[in-house]
Formats: sequence, C-alpha cells, structure tokens
Amino acid sequence: MILATGGTISGRGEPGKDIGYQSGSLPASELVEAVPGLSGIADIKTEQICNLNSDDITSEIWIALAQRINALTREPDTDGFVVTHGTDTLEETAYFLSLTIKTEKPVVVTGAMRPATSNAPDGPQNLLLAVKAAASSANRGKGVLVAFAGRLIPARAAVKRHTAALDAITSDGTGQAGYTSRRHTTGTEFDIAGLKTLPKVAVLYFAVDADPAMVEYAASHSDGIVIAGAGAGEFSLAWRAVLEKCGVPVVVSSRTGCGPVLQEAMVCANAVAAGTLQPAKAAVLLRLALTKTRDTKELIRIFCTY
Ligand code: ASP
Repeated sequence: MILATGGTISGRGEPGKDIGYQSGSLPASELVEAVPGLSGIADIKTEQICNLNSDDITSEIWIALAQRINALTREPDTDGFVVTHGTDTLEETAYFLSLTIKTEKPVVVTGAMRPATSNAPDGPQNLLLAVKAAASSANRGKGVLVAFAGRLIPARAAVKRHTAALDAITSDGTGQAGYTSRRHTTGTEFDIAGLKTLPKVAVLYFAVDADPAMVEYAASHSDGIVIAGAGAGEFSLAWRAVLEKCGVPVVVSSRTGCGPVLQEAMVCANAVAAGTLQPAKAAVLLRLALTKTRDTKELIRIFCTY
C-alpha cells in the first residue's frame, strides 16, 4: 500500500527544470506509473492522504496517517506500507510513525530531491527501493525505515543534511551498531487512537545574544519547549534564568547536528536531555510524551526509552 502525502517526489514544474516547481502536485497513481517494474515486485494499491509541500504537514495529518496505517494493517492482504513525503520534514513524520503505529509489517518512508518533471528525477529510484523494502518479509518488526538514495535508514536516525544533494537524507550515525536501539511501533506506550491533534511545543534556537524574551513568549504560548542549544546543549545565563522558572517542560537538544546531550550535563532542575535526538525530532517525542505526563522524571525516562 502506497500512501502519498505530496512533496517534491510528486512535484510538477516546467519540464527539465529542478527549481520553481510545485511540490505536492501529481497524484499517487502517476508516481507508480513512472516506475517500470514496480508491479513485478508487489501488487500495488495507492491512497492519497494529502498532497502538500511537507513544510505544511501538521500533527493532525500525522495522526490521520498513523490511524490509517493502524487500520489497514489489520487487513490480511496488505503486507507492507510505503509513505511518499516531502524531504523537508520527512524525518519528523517517519519518527512520529515509528512511535505510534502498531504493526510488525514493514513501513518505509521515501521522497525525492528533484521533481517528477525533472530531466533526471530521483523519485522513481527511491520509490522502487521503498517498495522493495516494504515488500520484503526480512523488514518485518524493524520499525519505520527511510529509503533514500540507495540507503535504508531507521526512522530515528534519518536526517536531512543537505539542501540540494540527491543523498540529502542520510543517517545521523545513531542507527549503527554501538548505539542502543530504541523502542518503536508495537513496543511503545503511545496510543493515538483517540487523538486529533498534539500538544504545542516551541523549538528555540540559541545563538549569541539570543533574546530571553523569546523563551518567555514560548513558555506562555506552548505546552513545552525544545532548545537547540550550543555545543552539548548549552545556552546563556540569561536564558537559564528564564528557563528555570518558565513553568513548562524543557527538553535540551543541540544545534550541532551530531552527538548526544546528556542528562548529567543539565544545569536547570526542570531540563530533560534529548540524548541523540535532533531538535525537530525531540519536539515530536515531547509532543507525544505530553499526551501522557508533564513530570520531569517521567519525561527523562521517556527520552531514555525512545
Ligand atoms: N519542499 C519540499 C517538501 O518538503 C522538498 C522536497 O520534497 O524535497 O515538500
């Protein structure tokens, strides 16, 4: 089952041009028609969830998509799922699905850096890889995978690291041996069956002289805050003073893009270390965690588990 949500993989523009196209334009059926041999791998069905630039994806769409997969997985004639998605926020959707869908069946998210109307689109190759992975019983129970530029990457480790390169989506390294693998899909405590939307979380990027008034504003307009801190999760004394009494849960990640933020290094009593989660993914986990608790100790446990 291919569930299409839009993105550059379904982008349409002036033939041969790689910029100035409309992301999220072609229907799912046309993506499938563009890949010769797909029907030899699997008996394909498609469903259009939405057709958007992925910067316009919302938590309501995440929940509807996860609920749809949870419903379809009970049908015996579906062996695996492919989700097509824009690359900008693909990693957040993939991680959200890995925390909320309840299936052992392979679920593979893919996208493309060039529109379908490009001279050399990368979407067909990525879709082919994704369908092969989703059709393979070897990928059962592995959680959500991202298929991109010849690689299969666990959802938690997938990151977009380049604005233009064809292998823009890659692994942050935490999916490899040496890192503890985290719970996913049937092993999580999150239940989105009765949910329509998620709590609001603000992601704040720290830089020299960053105004602490931003933290105050975020605290009064959100249910939680994620900090993209400097280095191993650091920020100024001015930010610390506001964060300590801000009254909402605070998760600290790093703007460096690589490496862990450790709980032992947290200077505020109410701060939860994001570990190896990048800021955008820390926001996904915090939003789900806030559907269950606001307690710092519980949040620390959740961030150590997923
Ligand atoms: N802006 C596009 C999107 O995320 C980029 C892409 O798909 O590559 O929908």
